[in-house]
Amino acid sequence: MCAKPEDPVEYLESCLQKVKELGGCDKVKWDTFVSQEKKTLPPLNGGQSRRSFLRNVMPENPNFPYRRYDRLPPIHQFSIESDTDLSETAELIEEYEVFDPTRPRPKIVLVIGGPGSGKGTQSLKIAERYGFQYISVGELLRKKIHSASSNRKWSLIAKIITTGELAPQETTITEIKQKLMQIPDEEGIVIDGFPRDVAQALSFEDQICTPDLVVFLACANQRLKERLLKRAEQQGRPDDNLKATQRRLMNFKQNAAPLVKYFQEKGLIMTVKCHCL
Ligand code: ADP
Repeated sequence: MCAKPEDPVEYLESCLQKVKELGGCDKVKWDTFVSQEKKTLPPLNGGQSRRSFLRNVMPENPNFPYRRYDRLPPIHQFSIESDTDLSETAELIEEYEVFDPTRPRPKIVLVIGGPGSGKGTQSLKIAERYGFQYISVGELLRKKIHSASSNRKWSLIAKIITTGELAPQETTITEIKQKLMQIPDEEGIVIDGFPRDVAQALSFEDQICTPDLVVFLACANQRLKERLLKRAEQQGRPDDNLKATQRRLMNFKQNAAPLVKYFQEKGLIMTVKCHCL
């Protein structure tokens, strides 16, 4: 293996001959068959110089017109200056307390329920009745999508929402945080459409606070479907198409029971039957 002879049989014969000459197997040492002569390694790329090597691997190419030592064009897309949606700034916010610990924290009421269960309507009523501020997470996301339509991240989120899937959790929570930080002096805040699953609930508690109350609008699936169809005719929201509606109902069906159970165990939930609302 070490010598890599061209003719292995001849090589073995020469080794046996060497053993005989040395005076038997006892005289064989670990390096008896290791060649002492130092061979230089063959030059890289058959003798090409480094410069010509580079020239060959990076030939003139109209699609890649930069030579090895040419300065590359600046990357605008990822520079801080072009952070139009302030996403880096948004990530920094994760490190800070949302509410000032030295001041009374606004009461937080979360309103959950299936798509079309009337979360928006009922949340607004609660907010009005108690003089609280109202936040709709769906609306928050839609507004952001609208204002950041040229941003890659947000156009991707727009597509996700149009298919009826949930927006990415951390982005959603960051948006909520940013909004909450703008209204620190409210007595209470009603958040419509959050959380959608237990993971969101945990993350909210971890990063923001434990809610004071969770209102669950319980509605039969069939009723939700009927309402969504009606809403699609009236409002024309891009995610009220048939496929997205089915997906949203499905997601809700999967996530609702564990979410309700989670808040029930914490003694925070209040269920309102809303089949006839
Ligand atoms: P609905 O509850 O009737 O689906 P919303 O306006 O509350 O209507 O939400 C619209 C869409 O916005 C949802 O289908 C989802 O894609 C996105 N969305 C809303 N709330 C959340 C959330 N908490 N987490 C992730 N995505 C959300």
